[in-house]
Amino acid sequence: MIYLDNAATTKPSLAAFERAKEFVSEKYYNPSALYTEGYALQSELKKARSVLLSKVADENFFEFVFTSCGTESDNQAIFSFARRGNAVTTLGEHSAVSAAFHELKNRGVAEPRFAPLNPDGSVNVEKLLELIDEKTSFVSVMHVNNEIGAINDINTIAKLVKKKNPRVVFHSDGVQAYGKIPFKLGKEIDLYSVSAHKIGGLKGVGGLIKRKSLVLPPYIIGGGQESGRRSGTENVFGIKQFQYAFEEKFSSLKEDFARLTEYRELLWEGLDKTVYTRLSSVNGTPYILSVAAKGLRGEILLHMANDKGLIVGTGSACSSNAKNRYSQVILACGFDERTADGVLRLSFSPETTREEVLQATEILNEVGRDLSSRMK
Ligand code: PLP
Repeated sequence: MIYLDNAATTKPSLAAFERAKEFVSEKYYNPSALYTEGYALQSELKKARSVLLSKVADENFFEFVFTSCGTESDNQAIFSFARRGNAVTTLGEHSAVSAAFHELKNRGVAEPRFAPLNPDGSVNVEKLLELIDEKTSFVSVMHVNNEIGAINDINTIAKLVKKKNPRVVFHSDGVQAYGKIPFKLGKEIDLYSVSAHKIGGLKGVGGLIKRKSLVLPPYIIGGGQESGRRSGTENVFGIKQFQYAFEEKFSSLKEDFARLTEYRELLWEGLDKTVYTRLSSVNGTPYILSVAAKGLRGEILLHMANDKGLIVGTGSACSSNAKNRYSQVILACGFDERTADGVLRLSFSPETTREEVLQATEILNEVGRDLSSRMK
């Protein structure tokens, strides 16, 4: 099977799994316990925190809080800091952010405001800034879009947002960026969400990077783990496997970025342009290529490709239960409903090979031409 749905989840790194195995077989203690064996795990967590943070941010200025997933991190950021008045985000966000913003309204907490997108899926910064006023408490702009792959320059955006209202807490959903694209968090970023399973980690492990001087209210209350910011016994095995998977990804991040850019273009060049239209910009993440087979149903193509040994996505896997037939993000980029109906998301991982890309191109052309001819 050729797997090109890595934006939904990645195959866990088996090397990282092997290295972390001792935290299941031997070092299975509760890290909050007072005896030596338990307490020793605190230093393992500390090491993991440091590795996961230091490659993307200044450790003097930021800290890393473990959570159960990217969704939890997004929710904690939003529900902790969106206050009376309004909160601003974009029309490109994953449902972990967009649904939480709608919930702010349902709960009467704050008025949610959504900034429009540019055709490439990045946020229209001018329009975003127009939505921010003296009553804005919280702004969330995703780093890399999970459906179309657009990259937002979050450091510059955060700077502009703070210039307009210095009291704003600025959050970014970094789930599709972390461990994949080169960047360092600027000092205007207050909160940044990450998730393990998008980079060879396991499902159920995530993190919220926060500015040290920002007081983060707990979202899950209990035993006071994570310095009282996120209660619940830490998943030491999952966290260590996340650390090792991240180390692995980070050590070849730049080479992977360059190689996958080449593969993304190779795939696009090979696709039949009478069937497929490109949605992703060349300036987006090399990990995602979104295309549309206009006039065809993406879902049908997905199943046809699946039967031929190729796994692809149609949009956000996490929103597959949504009532809406069309991706709101794709429509917000300005594409029409016929285009939105035919979207296929092809997403790569560093394990993707050139051979797989070439085979995937053939399969996509075959199923695309086949379905087109049946529609005539
Ligand atoms: N944010 C983005 C941009 C995502 O792509 C996803 C998952 O697809 C999430 C948040 C949710 O992350 P998790 O699956 O860890 O809850």
